Amino acid sequence: MFLKEQASEYIAKTKKLSKHQIKSNINELDAKILIDEIKEVLNYHDWRYYVISEPLIDDFVYDQLFKKLKSLENKFNNLLTEDSPTQRVARGLSEGFENVLHLIPMLSLDNSYNYEDLIDFENRLKKITELETLHYCVEPKFDGGSIALVYENDVLVRAATRGNGVSGDDITNNAKVIRTIPLKANFSKYGIHKVELRGEVVIERNVFKQLNAKRAEKNIQLKKDGKKELELFKNPRNTASGGLRAKDSEKAAQRGMEAFIYQIGIAYDKAGNDITEVKLPSHNNNIELLAELGFKTPSNEKLLSNNMDDVLAFCKKWEVERSKYPYEIDGMVVKLDNVEQQNLAGATAHHPRWAIAFKFKAQEAKAKLYHVDFQIGRTGAVTPVAKICSPAYYPLIKGKAYNEIDVDAVIGLSLAGVEVKNVSLHNEDFILEKDIHIGDSILVERAGDVIPHVTGIVKEERSGEEKVVQFPKTCLCDFNSTLEKPENESVWRCVHPQCPFQLEEAIIHFVSKGAMNIDGLGKDIVKRFMQKGLINDILDVYQLNFDAVLQLEGWKEKSVEKLKTNIEKSKNQPIWRLIVGLGIRHVGSTTAKVLAKQVKHIADFSEWTEEQLMEIPDIGPKAAKAVSTFFKDKKNISLIKKFGHIGINVVSSQKEANNKKLNGQTFLFTGSLKLMNRIEAKELVEMNGGKNLSSVSKNLDYLVIGENAGSKLKKATNLGTIKIIEEEKFLELIK
Ligand SMILES: [Zn+2]
Repeated sequence: MFLKEQASEYIAKTKKLSKHQIKSNINELDAKILIDEIKEVLNYHDWRYYVISEPLIDDFVYDQLFKKLKSLENKFNNLLTEDSPTQRVARGLSEGFENVLHLIPMLSLDNSYNYEDLIDFENRLKKITELETLHYCVEPKFDGGSIALVYENDVLVRAATRGNGVSGDDITNNAKVIRTIPLKANFSKYGIHKVELRGEVVIERNVFKQLNAKRAEKNIQLKKDGKKELELFKNPRNTASGGLRAKDSEKAAQRGMEAFIYQIGIAYDKAGNDITEVKLPSHNNNIELLAELGFKTPSNEKLLSNNMDDVLAFCKKWEVERSKYPYEIDGMVVKLDNVEQQNLAGATAHHPRWAIAFKFKAQEAKAKLYHVDFQIGRTGAVTPVAKICSPAYYPLIKGKAYNEIDVDAVIGLSLAGVEVKNVSLHNEDFILEKDIHIGDSILVERAGDVIPHVTGIVKEERSGEEKVVQFPKTCLCDFNSTLEKPENESVWRCVHPQCPFQLEEAIIHFVSKGAMNIDGLGKDIVKRFMQKGLINDILDVYQLNFDAVLQLEGWKEKSVEKLKTNIEKSKNQPIWRLIVGLGIRHVGSTTAKVLAKQVKHIADFSEWTEEQLMEIPDIGPKAAKAVSTFFKDKKNISLIKKFGHIGINVVSSQKEANNKKLNGQTFLFTGSLKLMNRIEAKELVEMNGGKNLSSVSKNLDYLVIGENAGSKLKKATNLGTIKIIEEEKFLELIK
């Protein structure tokens, strides 16, 4: 898994790749390196967006990279792999809920940013439908958590999160506490026996403010009692999508969530026939129907039009007036109204072709930069962080030394509904390039839910008192070690092996969710334990003096016991988690999982050369080099051996695979599938431990047939040893 702490690293990578111009005569080797880099960066952003709901970049930047990747893959067909972000819908499921399949996949929308994009969209549709005039339904694009609701016999039987688009988390209990979701709706009146609906769970801005006000009030008492204060909610979107996955539906209920239902995904009659096209032919009318059945819909917010100029004007009007709307929206959705035409247009692996999002521009505001702080990360990388405040507050702290300023009292910049006090400046080059001085007015941008970033400074507002940012020459650690910067990198690093900042970050990383996942041992607790001398290195995590912990303020026997259990439990984590935890550069969860399959004992990697590592599919040259360097270091091998001695799992196990439903079985799909597309089908096989074959042979266990299955079906029937099943049956196998 990726880590939050890698944000600045990935922003730097994103910037570099965004700027990179692909040469028209690029050779295959360079293309491969570039493709690997873009894939890694896109995967990280997917993770931020879909899994932890904390995106870092605009969709625009993402889309540009995505297009670059696509064009490279088009150029070098042999470099296109199944795992490329261009080949699938976004992934990610949270733990703890049952994973359920959507009746039809929930694809994400393609984005548009201007009139030309919309015209392109229209032209594509005209070509496919061979129609002169098309009708569009336009509605707000809600910024919350997506859900799919299934009603059967008029009763809500299931609610699921979007998940990876094919399957999501079953959150029926939490959905039931959302009052705008009817538990019963009279679909049978329209001959609908079973239906899957799409919607977005949101929290009204005012309600969100009240939620935080209540928390702040509660915190006053908690502080008095010497108890841990509650963290304030970040924004309506995260609060809504977090609420959907609250383990306790009581808690979910307290968040004031609402659900806008804006689409009928698929509908069946009693006999199981898909009646969407026949009985529900207009999207616009479907919304009205849903409204009539008691759903909260964007009925009053939508526009029906056959003119793209009107569509654009409507989108623009909403963009200007968005702040007056009680809910957060980040754009508009333009959909083809006719369902039959929608089906005709179909979908790519990624997006439906009949709908497109019109994204609003990011919001930008001016702040004052009053200090630059330097933080040392896990890899020793020095990241400059801008401390900013609202221009109105600046005179109160102007000219003061940083240590004289009460940072908590500083009023930050108010931007798109959140207060911003810190913004990353990435690295020295960024500061030089943007010519950023302390005391400058800087422009900070935030699009939707993206982490704010600096877009530039306002030079005209300089008074002459601004100061150059002094980038440190040595680390801030006790060793005062000289910082180093390899020629082709933009980041200065402390390379002292005992640097306490790095150690602290390394330990925080080791125990984090994405690595050993030790619940209850968060960042602040690690820091505290280190201050108290209870943890001095990674091994100490497993040699904690719990009596000493009990003496610390705020710890009770119960909480100590819990921590003890969690630490003990983490010893049995699969080895890919330990590999992630080791903090090898360029090795995230995806790479770690691939690596974990190659060896019996982690330490076996000490015998692998860089070249051998590079031969493993999906291991890029950078990762191969980093892994090789890491395992050549005797200190690291000795650490791994010590892990083994204290009972941490260092041996690859096949256990996981054995539990999977399709373990070892082989599959092939043929004919046109109606419940999923090919890529999704194959993914499901792999996710469940099965293997995909590309042709009918004696090695094939199952042939899954869609409509109009041809020669493969014949061949399989002739062989007589192959189980021939339909899609529904296949889905049952993995239920
Ligand atoms: Zn240092």
